[in-house]
Amino acid sequence: MENSNRPKIANVYRGTFIHSTQKTALQILEDELLGVDTDGKIAFTGRGTELVRLSQTFGFSPTEVIQLAKHEFFMPGLVDTHIHACQYSYAGTALDMPLLQWLNTYTFPVESHFKDLQFAHKVYSQVVKRTLRNGTTTACYFATIHTDASLLLGKIANDFGQRAFVGKVCMDRNDSVKHYKETNQESQEETCRFIAELLNKKYPLVRPVVTPRFALSCTGALLGQLGAIAKNNNLHIQSHISENVEEVNLVKKMFPDSESYTDVYLKHNLLTDKTVMAHGCYLSDEELVLFRETGASLAHCPNSNISLCSGMLNVRNVLNHKVKLGLGTDVAGGYSASMLDAVRRALDTSKILTIQNPEYKTLSFEEVFRLATLGGSQALSLDDQTGNFEVGKDFDALRVNVAAPGGPIDLVQCEEPKIILEKFLNLGDDRNIAEVFVAGKKVVPFTEPTTE
Ligand SMILES: [Zn+2]
Repeated sequence: MENSNRPKIANVYRGTFIHSTQKTALQILEDELLGVDTDGKIAFTGRGTELVRLSQTFGFSPTEVIQLAKHEFFMPGLVDTHIHACQYSYAGTALDMPLLQWLNTYTFPVESHFKDLQFAHKVYSQVVKRTLRNGTTTACYFATIHTDASLLLGKIANDFGQRAFVGKVCMDRNDSVKHYKETNQESQEETCRFIAELLNKKYPLVRPVVTPRFALSCTGALLGQLGAIAKNNNLHIQSHISENVEEVNLVKKMFPDSESYTDVYLKHNLLTDKTVMAHGCYLSDEELVLFRETGASLAHCPNSNISLCSGMLNVRNVLNHKVKLGLGTDVAGGYSASMLDAVRRALDTSKILTIQNPEYKTLSFEEVFRLATLGGSQALSLDDQTGNFEVGKDFDALRVNVAAPGGPIDLVQCEEPKIILEKFLNLGDDRNIAEVFVAGKKVVPFTEPTTE
């Protein structure tokens, strides 16, 4: 036997595995073996024909191997790089206004209710469960300005076993809904309290993320302070950028000393290799270069961009600039909490760009699959831990059954795995997601007693 300090093998799965790598958007491994150790990490992968050798090397019994059925496959868990947990309470409604009016009319009044911890508990439990059921193994959440409710979101994500970034929203400017903002001092102090208390919980998969709402909601002073807090604590940062034209113009007016919207964040030390910015529909090529140089990433949220008539991100151009990019649902500007919807809307948006300009190279479903998994993990700088089935990463995975009884997919004949994946991405839903694993632990079906 090899190194005896190695963690023991907890589970071995055999069947079809589909994932992306740096080199290829779609790698399909049929009759593959994958072993998960007791730390939840992928200990080995290999061909099914190597079962005997692998069982001897890694010390498991071939009879314990869990065999996938014919219409089943494993894919990496979906990574939602941008979702407002608090806005889940009105998801599917309020889609009749552009961004700034939408914020004032719907968002700020609803978010102000999250000082009520009972209400927060209800909505946050719902959103964590809904996203997990739909295969979101990693979520990058915005909460509200309320520290205790934001801490509660972290607890709920931890209790259900979801990998999550949680951001207490910071905003010291709000002229429309005056009771929903902080003073500069409150925002700083509460951000520090939030970070300290969340880190103190030592949740293995939940981390704080510094969250200025967006440039228009923050004074320059607050932006600078938040940049310093992120730097001093080596933390991730999330915000919004260049979502709609009116917003971009207002940012120009409000920050006349900055050369661009991107420059506003850059100047305040908010553009780092741990920054994820939502949208970016109107970024110039020069701004994309700043993203690449700093290592900051973009969260493409196509449902939201269309639902609020914000714009359409030219993903091909972003990828050509070698900027890291993941997908986000942006609930509730985006009406669906499912990352499968984000996949479909990303494809739709790409096709609309092709309709407008036949020269535009439409994204393939394989590319969008990569964005929803490995791309998202790169955008959140988590690709050393999750995003695909490389040995050493955590086992974050969906066990997909395209032939689930009562499900949305009808199979006429035995299809090859690539076709089955394409059908799942375009037609599937949570009925097809038989099991969800995060860091090796089965988190769906739910095992925790639910408190609804
Ligand atoms: Zn957003």
